[in-house]
Amino acid sequence: MARVFNFAAGPSALPESVLTECAEEMLDYRGCGMSVLEMSHRSSAYQQIFDETEATLRRIVDIPSDYKVLFLQGGATLQFAGIPMNLMATGRAAYIVSGNFSKKAYQEARKYGEAEVIATSEWTNFDRVPSVVGVGELAEIYGYDYLYFCQNNTIFGTQFHDIPNTGELPLIGDVSSCFLAEPIDVSRYGLLYAGAQKNAGCAGVTVVIVREDLIEDGPAIPSCPIYMDYRTQAEKGSMLNTPNTFGIYLCGKVYRWIEEQGGLEAMRERNLEKSGLLYDYLDHSKVFHGHAQPESRSISNVTFRTGSEKLDAEFVAGATARGLAGVKGHRLVGGMRASVYNAVPVEGVRALVDYMTEFEKEHA
Ligand SMILES: *Cc1c(COP(=O)(O)O)cnc(C)c1O
Repeated sequence: MARVFNFAAGPSALPESVLTECAEEMLDYRGCGMSVLEMSHRSSAYQQIFDETEATLRRIVDIPSDYKVLFLQGGATLQFAGIPMNLMATGRAAYIVSGNFSKKAYQEARKYGEAEVIATSEWTNFDRVPSVVGVGELAEIYGYDYLYFCQNNTIFGTQFHDIPNTGELPLIGDVSSCFLAEPIDVSRYGLLYAGAQKNAGCAGVTVVIVREDLIEDGPAIPSCPIYMDYRTQAEKGSMLNTPNTFGIYLCGKVYRWIEEQGGLEAMRERNLEKSGLLYDYLDHSKVFHGHAQPESRSISNVTFRTGSEKLDAEFVAGATARGLAGVKGHRLVGGMRASVYNAVPVEGVRALVDYMTEFEKEHA
């Protein structure tokens, strides 16, 4: 068995010990005589898995008790609609567009009310995040229902290192690709959510963390499908219908792995180290150039290119041949992207930098 170093943006690398545990428990989950895949979501064995998963997440993130945690399906994309349907009480919301996913969220929200872009960095192909100084206050003054932003722009490799101050106005964050990469102060948000397949589990699970008072009156838009009704989902413990039972079980194992590794502080240190190795190299390279402006650089997704599509393709092919998988960039940026999520070991990043050094010597 030869496992590669996987730099894919999502679905992406998982801790090997998590996969091994899943394999060991696959045929007979702890004496139940069946796989978690075969278990009723209404069984006590499964409810225990679910409760432990939520409890572990609450511990590692330090989620305040007045926030509900939901484990939903439909990816981050379904939340693009779920958020306006639940929270656009007066019908107007402010959006920061800092990349492809926030743009999609904005376009989706326009179906349900007046969504307005109050800051964007589209003019420079999203090579930075827009300044948020005063943006939150502005949104509050204009009386929007919320301010929406995407904290880590997976495709472009940029990240908000400061988040907008919105006062009383709920701040809504898509944290899909930075969730559990570093500590996060949940109390600054009205709602945050993450598709798990980036840094926090597998595809098919989306974690929504929402302040109770924002959902107690039910959806703002009455035709909201019951599946997307956050209040109902919270009342039903995310089991209005059959949840992604196996996905939630796997997320629980990933959360426990993070806890065993020292929690979110330890994750941040490692991710700074890994992304730092790449950025240091890029800052001195004559062949490779980073896409993100230094002050906006993501600690999860590192984007770079040579400036020649032919060389980029040659690099990606060479990397793949060396067991460095998933480094091809997204078509909107071109070039390369190394996603250095929690489960990507520092040795993998060192191997990538070694290959970049070798490649640079050959092509100088
Ligand atoms: C991947 C991603 C999405 C889309 O996720 P799906 O689960 O495919 O819907 C949205 N936002 C961000 C920041 C992402 O990284």
